[in-house]
Amino acid sequence: MMTTHTNYPLLFTPLDLGFTRLKNRVLMGSMHTGLEEAENGFERLGAYFAERARGGVGMIITGGIPPNAEGGFGAKLSTPQEAAQHRLVTDAVHVADADVKICMQILHMGAIAPNPDCVAPSAIKSRIAPFTPRELDAAGIEKQIEDFVSCALMAKLAGYDGVEIIGSAGYLISTFLVERTNLRTDAWGGSFENRMRFPVEVVRRVREAVGMDFILIFRISAMDMLEGGLARDEIVQLAQAVEAAGASIISTHFCWHEAPVPTIATMVPRAAFTGVTGRLRQSLRVPLITSNRINMPSVAEAVLARGDADLISMARPMLADPDLMRKAEQGREDEINTCIACNQACLDHTFGGNKQVSCLVNPRACNETLLNYRPTTQPKKIAVVGAGPAGLAFATVAAQRGHRVTLFDAADAIGGQFNLAKRIPGKEEFHETLRYYTRMIEVLGITLRLNTRVDAALLKSMAFDEVIVATGIAPRRPALEGIEHPKVIGYIDAILGRQPVGKRVAIMGAGGIGFDVAELISHAGPSAALDRATFAREWGIDFENHPRGGVTGVLPQVEKSERTVYLLQRKTGAVGKGLGRSTGWTHRLTLGRRGVRMHNGVEYLKIDDAGLHTLVNGEPRLFEVDTVIVCAGQLPLRTLHDELQQQGLASQLIGGAFEAGELDAKRAIDQGSRLAAVI
Ligand code: FAD
Ligand code: NAP
Ligand code: SF4
Repeated sequence: MMTTHTNYPLLFTPLDLGFTRLKNRVLMGSMHTGLEEAENGFERLGAYFAERARGGVGMIITGGIPPNAEGGFGAKLSTPQEAAQHRLVTDAVHVADADVKICMQILHMGAIAPNPDCVAPSAIKSRIAPFTPRELDAAGIEKQIEDFVSCALMAKLAGYDGVEIIGSAGYLISTFLVERTNLRTDAWGGSFENRMRFPVEVVRRVREAVGMDFILIFRISAMDMLEGGLARDEIVQLAQAVEAAGASIISTHFCWHEAPVPTIATMVPRAAFTGVTGRLRQSLRVPLITSNRINMPSVAEAVLARGDADLISMARPMLADPDLMRKAEQGREDEINTCIACNQACLDHTFGGNKQVSCLVNPRACNETLLNYRPTTQPKKIAVVGAGPAGLAFATVAAQRGHRVTLFDAADAIGGQFNLAKRIPGKEEFHETLRYYTRMIEVLGITLRLNTRVDAALLKSMAFDEVIVATGIAPRRPALEGIEHPKVIGYIDAILGRQPVGKRVAIMGAGGIGFDVAELISHAGPSAALDRATFAREWGIDFENHPRGGVTGVLPQVEKSERTVYLLQRKTGAVGKGLGRSTGWTHRLTLGRRGVRMHNGVEYLKIDDAGLHTLVNGEPRLFEVDTVIVCAGQLPLRTLHDELQQQGLASQLIGGAFEAGELDAKRAIDQGSRLAAVI
């Protein structure tokens, strides 16, 4: 029998909607996973959502489903046959926990649908869209409204407890609302009353059709984050009109997809936007949902305590840990596998061309029917050498299955390279992953031996059944004249502050680590991720006055160190092109604003007292620098593995030790988990 934990009294207070009740204040926010279009996708979605329902969340919102073909791509919902597929999802959730509500999001993508037949109030192509939309005529607008209505009816037929209509982010409904995308002169354009007619009609007619005992959430853009967006009083006016038209809950969303402001990446402070919801809440009677960078129960409880919202939406945190709410309820919050907001396996997959979503810290996410950690029938004594992400993932999954695991590391702490990553301003969340693994090592009874550089003799003496080598990487040191010059240092020494970094610096290599080092050494003042005012200043957001669109229009102000920094690469392509799709642009913009000079097409010639001699696109160039930091990639560290092989001892490689090229923590954790699932 579960006992309610008193750490989160507000979070676990039910919410009465009159005709129904939500058992607590946390819902899983909408995310497109790619399963909607996959083979056996609805069965897999059912298993994925059911696991979250069992994990204690109060309500689930599905990924967005278009109400018609022109409204998006892939799995639409407009027929009873399509509704039958959704039954696999709703039944799975209600069987898992009859008290959990599941609502389907109706997403009409409008001008940004990757669909040549896309439609919009005016034929204006979005910066991020592949096609120019067709302008809807009056009959076309009526058809779109009717399609919303029949989609909602199909959702009800499919067994959903409600629908969420998304009216934000640059999708169809939001493009009716602002003059930058609505140039109409008929009843659907011009005055704000006319521009908001479309969402109000959609909500009114959906409510009329589905009846009063069906949850109807309207997702509003509480801040568009772009010039020419909604003004503050317009947002209030729209919210009140939608409330009057029949919405049972209003969910707040922040920013259009094309807005040049990060709102969910890891450098965004936790709960940065909830105050905006709080302001809107003062003008409404229905409950409000807030979201964005709320990744732990303590953060959510604080948001409720401030009165910013009635409900908390957590989307990515539910990918990272389906049991988040159960753990909070049982006082086991230190066992929560926290979303670090990296976007690497979720949004970057979505934007990377319809690839299936998962999670960097939890590779089981969206693989619930395929990757399972079942108890072993043959417990083994296993050595894991290296407590970086690969070794940690392997050790915890293997121990969870019942193996006896000893985890070694030469360092005095677990984490491997995550101990470097966590020092980069904006990557503070990496501490959470280290906290999670530290706790799981205790909970699972893993024997941890730190400060132990393992060799073959030690492993032999302890007679393990299996040896897993997760020894990671060695930084690449390019063969170059002057590479031993005292001004040349490696990224590890630079990040750990073990070697001084001068005023004029060249960084050799502009991969993920080169960018992180540039961030660290060009940075001054507090980390924006930890300070909302700094974040707002750096991105030109005005939370307080909330001018039209929520952006100041003033150029972002960034604090920078006194260093002159050059970030160099040999490739001729754009610097930073290989960074994450959803976050790379933020890093490029931030470093550019700090004056970091990026050069491609660089050939390194030599390093001497004068600096770094190069050819840049064939032209000789001397970078007169005091320090050269080498961030030139990594090589697998297999000394131990080779030694074991020489002695005829079997071992298995994972993580960087297996393959250093294009290694990241996503691959390391995935590989470690998958091997541990079958060993
Ligand atoms: P490692 O993390 O290198 O761990 C190997 C461990 O083995 C070390 O702890 C080492 O001490 C131990 N070891 C080695 N030899 C022995 C021995 N003989 N005996 C005992 N112990 C031994 N990845 C991302 O996905 N996203 C990011 O945002 C990101 N940011 C990063 C930022 C920085 C600054 C850095 C440096 C890396 C970043 N990475 C990031 C990369 C990520 O950290 C690595 O891909 C990941 O750590 C590789 O995991 P691993 O377990 O294979 O190796
Ligand atoms: P990387 O991304 O592969 O970049 C290595 C850089 O070194 C490249 O810019 C490469 O570009 C250069 N280089 C390679 N060989 C060289 C040589 N012989 N001489 C000079 N330059 C050379 O690797 P990394 O930056 O070391 O990062 C390691 C891993 O950690 C990466 O896979 C990355 O994904 C991950 N990581 C991710 C993030 C993130 O935010 N997602 C952050 C940090 C690290 P040129 O060949 O063009 O010069
Ligand atoms: Fe969070 Fe990263 Fe997992 Fe996405 S991949 S859910 S951002 S931890």
